[in-house]
Amino acid sequence: MLELPTYEDVIAAARRLEGQAHRTPVLRSATANRLAGAELFFKCENFQRMGAFKFRGAFNALSKFSPDQRKAGVVAFSSGNHAQAIALSARLLGIPAAILMPFDAPQAKIDATRGYGGEVILFDRYTQDREALTAQLAAQRGMTLIPPFNHPDVMAGQGTAAKELLEEVGELDVMLVPLGGGGLLSGTALATRALSPRCKLYGVEPQAGNDAQLSLRAGRIVSIPTPQTLADGAQTQQVGTLTFEVIQREVSGVVTASDAQLVEAMRFFAERMKMIVEPTGCLGFAAACHARLDLQGKRVGIIISGGNVDLARYAQLIAAGSAQA
Ligand SMILES: *Cc1c(COP(=O)(O)O)cnc(C)c1O
Repeated sequence: MLELPTYEDVIAAARRLEGQAHRTPVLRSATANRLAGAELFFKCENFQRMGAFKFRGAFNALSKFSPDQRKAGVVAFSSGNHAQAIALSARLLGIPAAILMPFDAPQAKIDATRGYGGEVILFDRYTQDREALTAQLAAQRGMTLIPPFNHPDVMAGQGTAAKELLEEVGELDVMLVPLGGGGLLSGTALATRALSPRCKLYGVEPQAGNDAQLSLRAGRIVSIPTPQTLADGAQTQQVGTLTFEVIQREVSGVVTASDAQLVEAMRFFAERMKMIVEPTGCLGFAAACHARLDLQGKRVGIIISGGNVDLARYAQLIAAGSAQA
């Protein structure tokens, strides 16, 4: 049984990440403040190495490997940012990495993962059981599985983004955090409870996939079919057992944002703040503008979780958004 991480683990993770992860900027926008009626602080993990906060958790977890684990290597399954985070972290640490990806994953993502030096193993998600395949690899090659969110070292690593934010800007009233499996939100909760105890924390999910909201209401983990949403980083079917424990204990609530609201936020970031944010990274700001949270005059931290989006797709979404406006 894995133990829940604590703020001490976030501090240790921050030390391991020193000189390895970027200390990402905290940006402000007077126009964004006007739209939300609050004072917003954007922690820009779209500028993190490999383009998302996931580098933090992956690098922290791999840094803790024993010499034997390092030799045998790491295995992960992901079609998204976790794959690239594991591949890059493994390369930096000289650890072999095998990444299971569905054979119909976007070629750009497969190429990016290979580009970071990961061995990509393609599988058929309709006929093959991903978990069994991973377990088989782990058994055959002695590789260690690092899951994308439900792992104490991953959670602690993700918490370093909020630690940096709070150390830079001081205490906040509210923090809005994109939510898939809950690694980012639970890590953020550990840092926030320590550095800004009165701050209210909200997870933000895509409207089409509000499993964590349902889980909090039910008091147990609720699983849903894979949601159809632009927010592919938060397309999870359920939160983790460890992440849910921390979320249940520390989080004030979970709100949602629609795909149209995500596109609107994406356009805002491009036009006003001159930056590319992937749809999942827009969840926090979309909620600041549209969810019925009382933010009036408050100091609000928003984690922009990532910026990895296929450029052709991005252009399409931005153009479609402007036709609607
Ligand atoms: C993985 C991911 C998320 C969700 O993080 P969890 O730890 O699974 O909740 C949000 N945004 C981006 C860009 C991601 O890659």
